[in-house]
Amino acid sequence: MNQEWSEMNKEMQSLLSKKVTFPEGISRLLALRKLLFEQITQIVMTYPAEAFYQMPFAGAAGYHSKTLAYSIWHIFRIEDIVAHEMIAEDQQILFRQDFLKATQSPIITTGNELSGDEIVEFSRQLNVRELHRYAQEVMQSTDGILQNLNYPDLKRGFGEEMITKLKKTGCVSEAEEAGWLIPYWCGKDVQGLIRMPFSRHWIMHIEAMQRIKNKLCKQARKGVDPIAYCGFSCNHCFLGAWCGSCRTAYNTCSFATISPDGRCPNAVCCQEKGIDGCYECDLLETCEKGFYIPSNDGAEAAKAQALYIRKHGKKAFLQVHDRLHEQYDFAKTQELLGQDHEEGLKILEEVDIS
Ligand code: SF4
Ligand code: SF4
Repeated sequence: MNQEWSEMNKEMQSLLSKKVTFPEGISRLLALRKLLFEQITQIVMTYPAEAFYQMPFAGAAGYHSKTLAYSIWHIFRIEDIVAHEMIAEDQQILFRQDFLKATQSPIITTGNELSGDEIVEFSRQLNVRELHRYAQEVMQSTDGILQNLNYPDLKRGFGEEMITKLKKTGCVSEAEEAGWLIPYWCGKDVQGLIRMPFSRHWIMHIEAMQRIKNKLCKQARKGVDPIAYCGFSCNHCFLGAWCGSCRTAYNTCSFATISPDGRCPNAVCCQEKGIDGCYECDLLETCEKGFYIPSNDGAEAAKAQALYIRKHGKKAFLQVHDRLHEQYDFAKTQELLGQDHEEGLKILEEVDIS
């Protein structure tokens, strides 16, 4: 499990279990949920539509065997049911705001009952942006419920009546793969529900989502020119787990993600000019577009690399990178190449690749 999330989760659980630290425990829980939700938002906002119905680990044992869209639906359907039917005892967000229509979901259940192929087909049908809006509404609504809890509420349990009520909603399939959910939830008190659907369950599925998107990026980069339009090497990039290259639909480099149309300005400019990369452009030295914006501390290092490619070619450039990574421990190229493209070029040219 992600070390940071695991530590936060442990501390939060420990704080929640004592009356005197309970309010701090709730604050930590909300902070953890906020942090985790940011991961989901980043994925939804930056990955192409096709990413949400891919199943790169089909048939594997574990949460990563699902799709990105299914994972989001499943986390927040469970939370919606548990938070509203069991704890607040009011109407679920799915029905309160007509999210069923907006998300275009053909089901109201948690999805546990779906087979691999059915998950792919279900995911393909979902409107992912609306799914994200649904997830956000559920999270905010649950956060409100959690903030209103008092320490004695933690011990509140659930009996046969709740089991009957939940069954009547039709929100949990009676199929073998899902039938265990209602007795499982009703066997817990509020504290037990906080431990699973509202925290740990998120962590497990969001970690799985990270594995899925990392794999999709890796698959996208396969066979694609590893030189980015701006002059970076995708083969050596510290964002390799997040980005599937600016030459693919998984173009989630930092400047693509902050651009309104989700496309890196350097990639767009090169494509408009019909050139292979900024290394083929006469304006390179003075360009301030996208990655080369002066406020970016990696701008000069990127230019140094593009200049190297212009002079020595891509093959030599990749060899230089291999050598540098053998000799030094660094993530961002500016750590080695500094803040001046001419100096950076010299540093690259001094690397022995013979
Ligand atoms: S951030 Fe740039 S260099 Fe890194 S993988 Fe993406 S396109 Fe390639
Ligand atoms: S103008 Fe700038 S962004 Fe456009 S191709 Fe030339 S160097 Fe690249």
